[in-house]
Amino acid sequence: MTTSGDPSGQAPRALEAGEDPAAQPAILLVDDDAFMLAAQAMLLDGIGYRRVGTAISADVALALIRGNPGRVDVLVCDLNMPGMDGIELLRVLDAEGYAGGVILLSGEGTRVVQTVQRLLGRSRLVLLGALDKPASGEALRALIDAWQTRLPARPPGAPAAPAFTEADLRVAHAEAQWVLHYQPKVDLASGALASLEALMRWRHPVQGLVMPDRFIGLAESCGLIDTMTDWALREALAQIARWRTGGLSTRVAVNVSMDSLAAPGFAGRVAAIVREMAMQPQDLILEVTESKLSAHAVASLENLVRLRVKRFGLSIDDFGTGHSSLAQLRDVPFTELKVDRGFVHGARDNAVVRPILEGSIGMARRLGMQSVAEGVETEDDWRLLQEIGCDLAQGYFIARPMEANLVHAWLEGWSERRPALVPPA
Ligand code: C2E
Ligand code: CA
Ligand code: CA
Repeated sequence: MTTSGDPSGQAPRALEAGEDPAAQPAILLVDDDAFMLAAQAMLLDGIGYRRVGTAISADVALALIRGNPGRVDVLVCDLNMPGMDGIELLRVLDAEGYAGGVILLSGEGTRVVQTVQRLLGRSRLVLLGALDKPASGEALRALIDAWQTRLPARPPGAPAAPAFTEADLRVAHAEAQWVLHYQPKVDLASGALASLEALMRWRHPVQGLVMPDRFIGLAESCGLIDTMTDWALREALAQIARWRTGGLSTRVAVNVSMDSLAAPGFAGRVAAIVREMAMQPQDLILEVTESKLSAHAVASLENLVRLRVKRFGLSIDDFGTGHSSLAQLRDVPFTELKVDRGFVHGARDNAVVRPILEGSIGMARRLGMQSVAEGVETEDDWRLLQEIGCDLAQGYFIARPMEANLVHAWLEGWSERRPALVPPA
């Protein structure tokens, strides 16, 4: 595609394939400002994108997307437009199952954009990022180029993967198709390995490795989650023992669904599993997501206190995303506070997020809890956390979740990176 459309942007430019359509994302720009639209299209052409379409209003964009199902890869959307605005457009596209990526463009300032990002977080749209207007070519490129990695891997236009059913889960359980991958949490001051978080995957015979967001919710709603939690606890404990035999001594964190915690007797069951496996409660950290904890059932509170009394580690996961984070801190004797990744990556230059990150870490310290930042993706994230005095870090910068047998190799690589990342002892 070239910029040879109507430069005023008044008429929609069709989305055409370039020489190698597969290698080029089809980008659709929507903005009510004709000058801005033409300028951004030229900018994208200038940095090598060959499939750029424009739309002067949300209605035009909607018509183009509806007319080319599955063919728009990235929508660059102005938020403030007369008539149907950007937020309304995205709501309609979400409802209609638009499967491309979305980049928000706005002149409304970070707080507005962040609120919209949160709104979109609850939709199925894939948000690639948000930029202030006018956006630079470099900034756009960084977000656009994420489209291939961020979008679910499927051919353009193909239907989304079908949802699983309870029967699928029962087969998976009967056939032992669950597997745990492990992601390290490391000490920010020394770089030492503090623990490994166990994250469940489903080795599906046809679909390959299925991620937990596609089956944990289903397992909770059909009552299978307890069996799966028990399996995860046994498997994690067995893995600790295997690592020990191989000379690696570490604790493991297991995610526990609120549904399991609400069942009376959960604490006793976990303790029994630990005894059966000849391990200690101190070997385990149980990560609980506080957004689900907010129901505050007496049973969950009792289970949590009993687990703590038995010396299990208790982690409040995704801290900052729920509705009663502070009440949870008041009522539950957590040992670890895990700041949600939404407050971690890119916090240094974010005037809203950074004070929340610093506040959470300061609060953990004063409450005698270990602070953990998840979603540490860059060296800059890592350095900021060191400056703030956070205890532990976890995220792609350190390691992606990996199979248990890759942990030794990761440790070797990490020990080489470590000296440059921590102050000399
Ligand atoms: P979570 O407990 O908050 O786990 C962290 C998620 O963030 C993991 O996704 C992990 O792969 C991802 N992650 C780690 N580092 C980074 C990073 O630097 N950047 C980004 N963008 N993401 C990062 P995963 O494995 O898909 O797990 C998703 C959620 O599924 C978990 O969120 C947890 O709530 C749930 N889950 C996983 N395993 C279990 C389990 O055994 N039982 C229960 N009940 N829930 C589980
Ligand atoms: Ca977790
Ligand atoms: Ca988390």
